[in-house]
Amino acid sequence: MDDTLRFLDDDSTTFSDKPVWRVLAVDDDADFQRATAFGLNGLEVLGGRIELLQAYSYREASRLLAEQQDIALILLDVVMETEDAGLRLVKALRDVIGNAESRVVLLTGEPGMAPVREVMRDYDINDYWTKSELTAERLLTVLTAAIRSYSQLKAVARARRGLQMIVESSNALFCSRNTRELSAKILSEIASLLDLQAEGIVCVRAEEGNADGGEPDARIVSASGRFYRAIDETLDQLDNHDVADALRRCLREQQTLRLSNCTVLFFPRFQAGADYACYVATERPLDDTELELLKVFSASISRGLYNVSLFSRLEEMAYQDDLLKIPNRNALIRMLEMTLRDSSKDDRVLVLIDIDNFSGANMAFGTGYGDFILGLVAKKLREAFDSNVLIARVRDDLFAILGPESQVRAPDIVALFRSNNRPYELGQVHSFSSTTMRLADFHGSAGVALQDARLALKQAKLQGHDQHTFYDPQLLGEHAESFRMLLALRDAVEAGRISIELQPQIDLRSRKVTGVEALARWQQADGRWVPPLKFIPLAEATGYILPLGDLLMRLALQAAKKLADAGFAHIRMAVNVSAPQLLQHDFIERFTGHLEAAGVSARQVEVEITESVAMRTFDTVCEKLNALREMGVTVAIDDFGTGFSSLSYLRQLPADRLKIDRSFVVEIGELGDQQMIADAVIQIAARVGMQVIAEGVETQQQAAWVLQHGCFDAQGYLFAKPMPLKELLGWLESWPGAR
Ligand code: C2E
Ligand code: CA
Ligand code: CA
Repeated sequence: MDDTLRFLDDDSTTFSDKPVWRVLAVDDDADFQRATAFGLNGLEVLGGRIELLQAYSYREASRLLAEQQDIALILLDVVMETEDAGLRLVKALRDVIGNAESRVVLLTGEPGMAPVREVMRDYDINDYWTKSELTAERLLTVLTAAIRSYSQLKAVARARRGLQMIVESSNALFCSRNTRELSAKILSEIASLLDLQAEGIVCVRAEEGNADGGEPDARIVSASGRFYRAIDETLDQLDNHDVADALRRCLREQQTLRLSNCTVLFFPRFQAGADYACYVATERPLDDTELELLKVFSASISRGLYNVSLFSRLEEMAYQDDLLKIPNRNALIRMLEMTLRDSSKDDRVLVLIDIDNFSGANMAFGTGYGDFILGLVAKKLREAFDSNVLIARVRDDLFAILGPESQVRAPDIVALFRSNNRPYELGQVHSFSSTTMRLADFHGSAGVALQDARLALKQAKLQGHDQHTFYDPQLLGEHAESFRMLLALRDAVEAGRISIELQPQIDLRSRKVTGVEALARWQQADGRWVPPLKFIPLAEATGYILPLGDLLMRLALQAAKKLADAGFAHIRMAVNVSAPQLLQHDFIERFTGHLEAAGVSARQVEVEITESVAMRTFDTVCEKLNALREMGVTVAIDDFGTGFSSLSYLRQLPADRLKIDRSFVVEIGELGDQQMIADAVIQIAARVGMQVIAEGVETQQQAAWVLQHGCFDAQGYLFAKPMPLKELLGWLESWPGAR
């Protein structure tokens, strides 16, 4: 504050409910100033007291006016330093400072100096008096009239600003993604609109009434100020009964209430999607303008609430478990991410719970029974914790609890399920295992946190049932990386991020395309590709190759069908089959099932198995390969030359062709002709009556060499890299020998 400001009252800053009207007297005449101060002392006008500011020069006055926007009345001596100084001051007030509300009363020392009418009108000057006429009684009348019109003008201006704020804030509000966020903004907007402390509550009425037919309860979506802690509670839980009653009344009567110390706005369901009530502590009755403003505001808010409720329904679908209607893995990851970023993460824990022998129970009693158990577990967990604790279903029978360590304690959870008077019979399932991860101990992304916790849980379960451990990064050890990858692979399969690419195989003599090999591709959510040599061996080692292989087979056969439909039925689809897949007792039935489902002829399909697989459990493999060949499927031995197969075995092997491993093709042109294994492979193939195909052909020289040595087929970057089906179809159109 500028020190030229002179307050008459020292206690002018103390708070009082009464309005304070500021009056500025501008006059270089000290006697007049004194008289004015005396005359105004203790006056009450329109329920408010007067606060007098005094300026002794125009300069002083104009500085003051620029700083103080809320001066109700200016008593202005027209003639001071110069003749027109007074008018210049008013002009500056209106045009430069932009203050249209302060009232101006001109005073002059002697009669006959009245300013012209136009000037009074143009500068909105209210009154004109000679000082001698201004008796104490008249001063009061002048003051009252001026202050009344000032306060009216102020109200209009506030309304205009309020409307503008509503328009501006509406845009911001409608970006809110959920009801809570929007409600919080509503509260703060109302507070600034009415120039109040932000204290209030927004609640929404439940869709249905209680089972006993009572009034439906309402949940508090947002709250601010002293009510802050009530968020997420129901109205019944609110400890301030007056406030709860006011909100309830508003919802019952379906209308906005204007009470002595608060206002409760009502947003009806037909506009807002659900019945909302918004309590604002006003501590003073609102005036008509303010109420009018709130009405406009409410109307525009209803639309926002409606949009948001629509949005949250959409969001529910993405973040809710279909079966159990609790948050799903996505929701957990989102919350974990938020928690990990937050400084409060240190007192948070993530607990994973896995029902022991759930799949056994599922198998024994059917999935209906399994679902029933899952429902019970979800319900029990939900009821056991406050609403600030997140309960989510990660997958299958794996549940997650995320919340403060003080609330989420493993022994309590165990007790929850192990109580003697067990309220439900879990059949075969009578225990569960858990891992607790303190987020303070963890540095990494949400995805990795979940994976690590899953790994810890899996390790714990190796010890048997009913295991409850704490996550210890040290214990994860070297397997962590592979395990993470396996989990990520499973998620990728579920999210459809596994695909195939197709690489053409060419007849070197005719340049015709004879086949394509289907190769697995995994693109991670961040766009990066995981090479098959990383995930296929892992899947093989863990048994996950069975579902994965099934998927890849399906994708390959669907692509074969599309090729055939596009007029390329003569192009064989080569599918890589791993040992565990081939050795499944029902492999042939599965394979036939896939063929039928895709509508593809067996003759269009080639199965590639690696040499090492072919030579293992030889009899069983032969049996399967024979069955395949009887159907019309051709069989290729992949990576041939790396496995030291004996010629006698090879002779008995039911296969159509050998694939010369890329490592031997690379040698072409680098080594002397006589050391070349490729040459030996081609000769062996000829002896056992099989065809050969060279893989990894990258140069013209390699192609020429293999052709010259009696290998008529080739596959490699020289002709084409593996590509998605769509691209392949285009490539085929441009390849001269494709049709
Ligand atoms: P593979 O069956 O020997 O496949 C040939 C690999 O050589 C492919 O690598 C292919 O992209 C690559 N390749 C083809 N031509 C050239 C070339 O001219 N130069 C070079 N440098 N490389 C070439 P990819 O796709 O990385 O596959 C690697 C291995 O992963 C495959 O070796 C196969 O063992 C396995 N794999 C890929 N897809 C599947 C599948 O669907 N099922 C199974 N069980 N295994 C698969
Ligand atoms: Ca292959
Ligand atoms: Ca190969």
